[in-house]
Amino acid sequence: ELMKNNNNNNDCRGHLVLVPCPLQGHMSPMLHLAKLLHSRGFSITIILVSSNELNPCQYPEFMFHYMDNIISYNSFGGDVMLYLLMLNNKCTTPFTDSLLTLTKLQFGPVTCVVYDAVMYFSAAVADQLQIPRIVLRTKHDEAEEAIVADFPILRAKDMPVFETSDQEAAENVLAKIHHGTKTASALIWNSLYCLEKSIFNRVKDKISAPIYPICPRLHYNFKNNNNQVITNSSSFKSLMYNGTCSDDDDQSCMSWLDSQPSNSVVYVSTGTVVRVSKSEVGEMAWGLANSEQPFLWVVRPGLVNGSSSNSGLEVLPKGFLEITKKRGKVVQWAPQQKVLGHRAIGGFWTHNGWNSTIESVNEGVPMICWPRIGDQRVNARIVTSVWKVGIELEENNLKRWKVERAVRRLMVDGEGKEIRNRAVKLKENVRLSLGQGGSSSEYLDKLVQFIRLLP
Ligand code: UDP
Repeated sequence: ELMKNNNNNNDCRGHLVLVPCPLQGHMSPMLHLAKLLHSRGFSITIILVSSNELNPCQYPEFMFHYMDNIISYNSFGGDVMLYLLMLNNKCTTPFTDSLLTLTKLQFGPVTCVVYDAVMYFSAAVADQLQIPRIVLRTKHDEAEEAIVADFPILRAKDMPVFETSDQEAAENVLAKIHHGTKTASALIWNSLYCLEKSIFNRVKDKISAPIYPICPRLHYNFKNNNNQVITNSSSFKSLMYNGTCSDDDDQSCMSWLDSQPSNSVVYVSTGTVVRVSKSEVGEMAWGLANSEQPFLWVVRPGLVNGSSSNSGLEVLPKGFLEITKKRGKVVQWAPQQKVLGHRAIGGFWTHNGWNSTIESVNEGVPMICWPRIGDQRVNARIVTSVWKVGIELEENNLKRWKVERAVRRLMVDGEGKEIRNRAVKLKENVRLSLGQGGSSSEYLDKLVQFIRLLP
């Protein structure tokens, strides 16, 4: 099934086929990249795993092609690696069919495949069909070898770990991701040069293909001068939550924030993939309550190990919502980018998913870092020890008093003020790099030039 939207092929500079991974933290950078490349004159086809991932009507400028393969992350019990393995195994044949169909249609030959590093099946297929390919590396876990060598500040315990029931399969997945990345025509690094100079320079020495540090979401928002979030649509939320979310939730978050004093609210989110235990939720809840600071907390369905993906706030301890009614708000989903940009937000208690980390930096919001899996420890370490815009919350053995202390350190104490000042400075550097003549906008120009010159 092919959906043709109003791509204009007459003055097109090339036809790009984009392959995103259907997890929010991966989907969002790829869709923003699609928007940026489309605005530079490329025609874009997005190949999705299944047709209910996105509502194509919201993206009239793209063409969509579906592999009709419904594998839900939620059915893998939080085991990201097994999920990726199944996804890649099942996509090779439909992706080959998609590329062959596309080249036969009137859109002209495919100039290049741009795929998320974790969708490694794309590499073998593109190579076989002799189509150049560019890897979008959305997260840090896709280059951990390079990171250890380059960042003496990282400790052994910071290295990426994946909770998986099949270690061998997980290693196999990682090896395939690395192989695809090393052999691509170019690499897009979802980051900014000004944030990761030293890692970036070292990786550049090791990989012969050109690397472009570009953070599509920040570029897109900067260019459009707003915090429009193009992937937090209700269709994406419905996919994740089986239809229990609506855009009204977004509005209620923002109006609640409007009623709070500036820099007073702790925003709490552990992203879309991480799961926590019921006792951790209890400690989080009472720690927040005892800190006496206002908070906005995203408790997504399926957050707690063993709870069903439809379940809502019943994972919270008894009495918690009544006690914190005046000061706290708990939601199933928040428009995070907009929330972080709100003047009321004073800190972000985060799992340090890479997107959340850079979104926080982009808004000058200091962090309480509570990394859990994958690259999150690496990210947390960069936040606390390189940029120095956050404090660390011990990962294991979460206790309410530790939560309370961390919140008060960041939100109330003098130490917090210093950290906030540094976060504001870092934000200014980020914005400069995104502006005209800034290093990031130059890298984006170079990437566009590179694609235009592909054979
Ligand atoms: N997100 C959001 N609202 C939520 C939770 C998450 O908008 O309530 C977005 C967030 O802005 C980020 C992405 O989902 O862009 C999560 O990606 P990240 O890399 O931080 O973590 P992951 O979910 O992949 O662990």
